[in-house]
Amino acid sequence: RTESRVALVTGGTSGIGLAIAQRLQADGLAVAVLDLDRPHSRELAEREGLTFIGADLSRRADCRRAVDEVVAALGGLDVLVNNAGFQHIDPIPDFPDDTWDTMLHVMLTAPFLLSKYAWPHLRRSGQGRIINVASIHGHVASPFKSAYISAKHGLIGLTRTAALEAGEQGLTVNAICPGYVRTPLVEGQIADQARTRGITPEEVEQKVMLEPAAIKKLLNPEDIAALASYVASPAAWGMTGAVLDIDLGWTAR
Ligand code: NAD
Repeated sequence: RTESRVALVTGGTSGIGLAIAQRLQADGLAVAVLDLDRPHSRELAEREGLTFIGADLSRRADCRRAVDEVVAALGGLDVLVNNAGFQHIDPIPDFPDDTWDTMLHVMLTAPFLLSKYAWPHLRRSGQGRIINVASIHGHVASPFKSAYISAKHGLIGLTRTAALEAGEQGLTVNAICPGYVRTPLVEGQIADQARTRGITPEEVEQKVMLEPAAIKKLLNPEDIAALASYVASPAAWGMTGAVLDIDLGWTAR
């Protein structure tokens, strides 16, 4: 196996996942990024020197294969970052059934399956880490995001359960809960809301998104990556089952 510790970051070719992958690589880990198999994702990973794993996390078989591929390519697995996700906004009566199923699979079932399949490797590491990128919407709700918020609340429950089970196995499990971060996912929401509310994108940011926040400025993906870097490091051996908010003060009130 390679000398360095090995990380797998899901949704690792965009936004927060890409920033985490780059940061862990800078920290000296060998990093694989899992994402939907699209040419631009594969090319981006290659340019960055990241191992690309093409997989669709809404499929159970892809979750299994992804873990096998990382271990085959890089010789083991020490850090699993469950980060992939997406948003869908609709009131419950209109929320498409299939979208609910896919969102729950990608954002809750896949983190469970990847944790399960990766577990023996993470355990063997002696410094295994599972880092689940949840959200402030793992604690609080907003209207029209029923599947996203349900999945994120569930992911915090999975984090705490896994942390208890992992206790004596040299394996920690933690969740990171960001407030709004400037990524393609959020840029898309800003544009949608500006259109539906008939206001400017700046007004959506300040008056809608950052209304509950104490600091009125969007986070950057690198801010989340810096926290993930600490959680992944050997120094964080005693932190487990933690739900780490980095939310501009949103949940302080
Ligand atoms: P993003 O859209 O920039 O990146 C998400 C990545 O996940 C994409 O590369 C996408 O292709 C991948 N993905 C989606 N469905 C997939 C599937 N079925 N299989 C494999 N990969 C898939 O989003 P982001 O803003 O960087 O979000 C990353 C994570 O952070 C998500 O879990 C999101 O819920 C969470 N989060 C984001 C914010 C924010 O403000 N941006 C806040 C809190 C939490």
